[in-house]
Amino acid sequence: MFERALQRRLAERREQNRYRQRRVVESAQGAELQVDGRQLLQFCSNDYLGLANHPKLIEAMHRASAEFGVGGGASHLVCGHSSLHHRLEERLAELTGRDRALLFSTGYMANLGTVAALVGRSDQVFEDRLNHASLLDAGLLSGSRFQRFAHNDVADLQRRLQRAPEEGLKLIVVDGVFSMDGDMAPLPELAGLAQRHNAWLMVDDAHGFGVLGASGAGSAAHFGLDQQQLPVLMGTLGKAIGSFGAFVAGSETLIESLIQFARPYIYTTAMPPAVAAATLASLDLLETEAWRRDHLASLIAYFRHEAALLGLPLMESNTAIQPLMVGDDGQALAISRALEAEGILISAIRPPTVPVGTARLRITLSAAHRETDVDRLLSSLAAIWRERGQL
Ligand SMILES: *Cc1c(COP(=O)(O)O)cnc(C)c1O
Repeated sequence: MFERALQRRLAERREQNRYRQRRVVESAQGAELQVDGRQLLQFCSNDYLGLANHPKLIEAMHRASAEFGVGGGASHLVCGHSSLHHRLEERLAELTGRDRALLFSTGYMANLGTVAALVGRSDQVFEDRLNHASLLDAGLLSGSRFQRFAHNDVADLQRRLQRAPEEGLKLIVVDGVFSMDGDMAPLPELAGLAQRHNAWLMVDDAHGFGVLGASGAGSAAHFGLDQQQLPVLMGTLGKAIGSFGAFVAGSETLIESLIQFARPYIYTTAMPPAVAAATLASLDLLETEAWRRDHLASLIAYFRHEAALLGLPLMESNTAIQPLMVGDDGQALAISRALEAEGILISAIRPPTVPVGTARLRITLSAAHRETDVDRLLSSLAAIWRERGQL
């Protein structure tokens, strides 16, 4: 029974051009990857600052594992909360300008744990339609009354808040930088709206943390929003930071509540302490070597300028995420394959990751790229789009 039912579902996914396949990567992260035996220039990782394979992070992990071993051993509340985890939490609180920060093993778990700890059946959650899957899952898991507003549409959110019943807590949740579109949420407007409606604002800054703000503290720093204006700040450590894990930063009361009530925090093994040590080394680089953010910003400007001259279908994004809209799933897949034949790796993002009819090539730039890498990308894209008769 199960075999047959599952096979039917798999066949259906294949027919829709939505079948996902993993590739085997045989090298460390970098501008180039060894994939299934071939060397490919990649524009699809979230290692925005090129830190995932940095010698300082590797050395920190080596040294910490010699002292602390490999396994976390237990959950944070039992006996797995090491001095390295603790120091990292203090550093994250300092960097984000919050009272405290709390480490989670992954961003997915941070989102599930935080939303479900903050709101329940008699409360309301308002989420942007294009929020990351983990935030949508978190809203559903919380059991609260859950609604989605039109993407970056402050007026739509305002109407929904006005219509909402007075009783219960209200939580507004958005991505700081939208993961598949690259555009930013209008955080100052959302923060103002939240304050007027006695709601709390939560921002998932997976794609802003490390990249935005003068010292890499992310979207909140970029807009200058303090803990009062943006009470729940979540960031991940596996993207620009080049390590692994996630955190939530905010008031003493928020963090203590998460320690008491966030189930994905409580019922899981602490991340290996050596991973926290690598993250600390990455935060040092974030603060002392701003050139990576500057180089990335100049690559983004260069790519957008040249792609616009070529007539490529750029989207409204000024971040490292620079998708090209295609629309049709099969076409997006065909373009991704054509690029791969040219030695360039970019994945075709299709539904259900993005809305139906908006399949795209999700190009990501990194400080690990050189301008000549971007030139190579642009000339391949131009050739492919020309061949399709669209330039
Ligand atoms: C990647 C991502 C997450 C999940 O973070 P992990 O640490 O990879 O689990 C959450 N939210 C957004 C917006 C993301 O892009």
